[in-house]
Amino acid sequence: DRLTKRYPAAAGGFGKPKAWVNAVNGVSFEIRSGETLGLVGESGCGKSTTGQLLARLLEPTSGSIRFRGRELATLRGREIRDMRKHIQLIFQDPYASLNPRHTIGSILEEPLRVHRIGSSAERRQQARDMLEIVGLDRSYAARYPHELSGGQRQRIGIARALMLRPSFVVADEPVSALDVSVQSQILNLLKELQRRFALTTLFVSHDLNVVQYMSDRVAVMYLGTLVELAPAETLFRSAVHPYTRALISAIPSVRDGERRERIVLRGEVPSPLHPPAGCPFHTRCPQAVAECALVPPEWKSVGPDHYARCLLT
Ligand code: SF4
Ligand code: MG
Repeated sequence: DRLTKRYPAAAGGFGKPKAWVNAVNGVSFEIRSGETLGLVGESGCGKSTTGQLLARLLEPTSGSIRFRGRELATLRGREIRDMRKHIQLIFQDPYASLNPRHTIGSILEEPLRVHRIGSSAERRQQARDMLEIVGLDRSYAARYPHELSGGQRQRIGIARALMLRPSFVVADEPVSALDVSVQSQILNLLKELQRRFALTTLFVSHDLNVVQYMSDRVAVMYLGTLVELAPAETLFRSAVHPYTRALISAIPSVRDGERRERIVLRGEVPSPLHPPAGCPFHTRCPQAVAECALVPPEWKSVGPDHYARCLLT
């Protein structure tokens, strides 16, 4: 269903906020069982918010989130906790979410404790098993987060997310904070674990190379709205939305001799406080026509399994 998240624009004030930021504006998509759906866009476009809505870290202002036939948008307290067994998040910076005073073993056992799963001996064993599954060894259980490298900490972040054996994982920029040399190790680990645990994944990233490598389908967001959605191959070969095309044109080409004309967007991303009327992309779109400032384009099918929101398609 169409998902909306509005934030009060002024934090810390009293009474009703006067302005709302539409961080996610009527976004609507499904994630198919077992697939990795990439969600891309510039920072501030609402992709992280969308991921957090799906994991129910945030409460939607309106709309519906369904998971295995259950409505998640209206879940409360305890029900959200139960749902967490199935839906987990992997964050950009696991360090910020790893308690510095707890050992890695204790951090990994925590989700099992919270959900009262197993005896303490079993929880210990499972934490140690999981360390090996993510490519570390059991000696890490006695160590503290600050003793670990960025890549090792992200392995712990992933291990913790998997402790409850979720079926759905939201990975929000899981490698953006890592050195490029470490990034591919973590991406390959994620791929391996997706297979091993039959995970369905929402993979949120601003990095199109990474998204192309990881995703079965890709959704592109601009100013809180989905502008295009297609199988990864289709999107990178024949995107139809001018915004998607501009993003793809900016990927540095890895192959020698391949020349791609870079589409440079003019102007700044407008404030989500005052999104432009008509097509939200019209202030920067190289192909905009007069009508674009007036008519909001509809989400429509433009090919097999391929959708876009542009008046010209
Ligand atoms: Fe560009 Fe107009 Fe299409 Fe929007 S509707 S993407 S402004 S051509
Ligand atoms: Mg983000």
